[in-house]
Amino acid sequence: MPDTALMPIPGATDPVPVARPALVDGVTPRADGRIDLIGLARPRIAELFAAAGMDARAARLRARQVYHWLYHRGVTDFAAMTDIAKPMRPWLAERFAIGRPEVVEAQHSADGTRKWLLRTADGHDYEMVFIPDADRGTLCVSSQVGCTLNCRFCHTGTMALVRNLTPGEIVGQVMLARDSLGEWPHQAAPRVPHDEHGEEDGDGAEDDGPAYTADGRLLTNIVMMGMGEPLYNFDHVRDALKLVMDGDGLALSKRRITLSTSGVVPMMARCGEEIGVNLAVSLHAVTKQVRDEIVPLNRKYGIDELLAACAAYPGASNARRITFEYVMLKGRNDSDADARELVRLLRAHNLPAKVNLIPFNPWPGAPYECSSPERIRRFSEIVFAGGISAPIRTPRGRDIDAACGQLRTSAAKASRAERDRAQPVAP
Ligand code: SAH
Ligand code: SF4
Repeated sequence: MPDTALMPIPGATDPVPVARPALVDGVTPRADGRIDLIGLARPRIAELFAAAGMDARAARLRARQVYHWLYHRGVTDFAAMTDIAKPMRPWLAERFAIGRPEVVEAQHSADGTRKWLLRTADGHDYEMVFIPDADRGTLCVSSQVGCTLNCRFCHTGTMALVRNLTPGEIVGQVMLARDSLGEWPHQAAPRVPHDEHGEEDGDGAEDDGPAYTADGRLLTNIVMMGMGEPLYNFDHVRDALKLVMDGDGLALSKRRITLSTSGVVPMMARCGEEIGVNLAVSLHAVTKQVRDEIVPLNRKYGIDELLAACAAYPGASNARRITFEYVMLKGRNDSDADARELVRLLRAHNLPAKVNLIPFNPWPGAPYECSSPERIRRFSEIVFAGGISAPIRTPRGRDIDAACGQLRTSAAKASRAERDRAQPVAP
C-alpha cells in the first residue's frame, strides 16, 4: 500500500522534506495537555474514556452520547451534554477538549463568498471558503497546509508543504462553518435526558424533532478543493469525511461531497471504495507537453493512465459523472484543437464526464493570463457540441483572494521565484 502521508514524486516534482511534529493518533497536541475529541471516531473516543479510568461498558455508552453531542448537535461544551450525569461533565472537561480551528481572520467578498484564515493548535495557518449560491452553499475545505505539487498556475503550489491536516482539523472546518452559519440543531432537547445513573442503554437514537438534513440549509455541499492534494493525505481525509457522512455525525450525503485530485492515480480506486464521494479531476491540458508543464504530477501519472483510472472509478456512472476541471490559460491550453482533443480523449475512454471550465484566477507573479471570454465561450461550445457538458464557472471571491487557486497563507516557505530557481520546469 502506498505511503499516503507523503508520496515521493521523482524529478522536479519531488516534495522537499520538511520537519513536522509527530502527530500522536493523528491528533495535534494541545498546550493544555487535554485531548481534542474532534476528529475521533466513536470507538477511539471509547478507548480514550476507558484509558482515563471508565469501565469498558460505561466508556462505550459515554462515547456514544458524547459523539452525538459533538458531531450531530455541534456542542462545544461538556456542560451542555444534558444526558450525561452532572458530576461526569467536569471530569470529561478536565481531560478532553472540544476543539475548533482558531479563526485568525474572517473575510467577506462583495459577492457573498466568505473566507476564513484558520490556525492549528501548533500554529500553522490554512484557509476555508464558503460559496453561497441561489440553490446551494458550498464549503471549500483544505486537506493540507501548503501542497507538495507545484502546479504552475496555482498559488497554493508556491507554498512548501508544511504538513497534512489531521482529521480533526479537516472535519473542524465543516463544524466551524456550521457554527458560523448557525446550522446546528442545538435547540431540540434530547428525548431521553434521564441518564444520571449511567444505566440507559443509549442507542443514540434521540429525537431531534424535525429530521435534520442538509436540504434547506445554507451549507449543503462540500468540496475538497481548498489547500492541498487530498489524495496525498488519504487516511486523514477519509476519516474526516466518514464523520461528515455519518448519519449520527454531520449527516451530509456523500452525493453532496466532491473530492478534487490533480491525478494521484494509485489512490483513486481507494477513494471510490473507502470514501465513495464524487470525484473531480484537475485535467487542465490534453497533451503531455502542456500537462507536464502546468501539472508536474503528469510526469509521473500521464493522461491516459489518469483517464483509465477515472473510467474505473468505483461508483462513476451516467448519473454520477466525473467532473474534469480545466483552467483556461491564454495561449497555453485554450485552442479549438485543445477542445476537440478533450472531447476525443473523454470519448475514447468512454467516460461519464462533465467538464468545468475555470477562468484562471490571477495572483501576484503568476506566469499565466486568463483566456479571453470569447475564447472560453468558443472552447465551451466545441466541448458541448461533442456531447459533453462544459459550463463556464463564474469566479467567486476574487476580491478577497478566495477563488480557486488563490489560497496561500503567510506560512509559505518558498516564493515562486525561489522555487523556480531550485526546480526549473523542463521546456
Ligand atoms: N489539489 C487538488 C484540489 C485543490 S485545487 C487539485 O489540484 O485538484 C482546486 C482546483 O482549483 C483545481 O482544479 C485547481 O487546478 C484549480 N486551480 C488552482 N489554481 C487555480 C487558479 N489560479 N485559477 C483557477 N483555478 C485554479
Ligand atoms: Fe496542489 Fe491542487 Fe494547487 Fe496543484 S492545483 S499545487 S495539486 S493545490
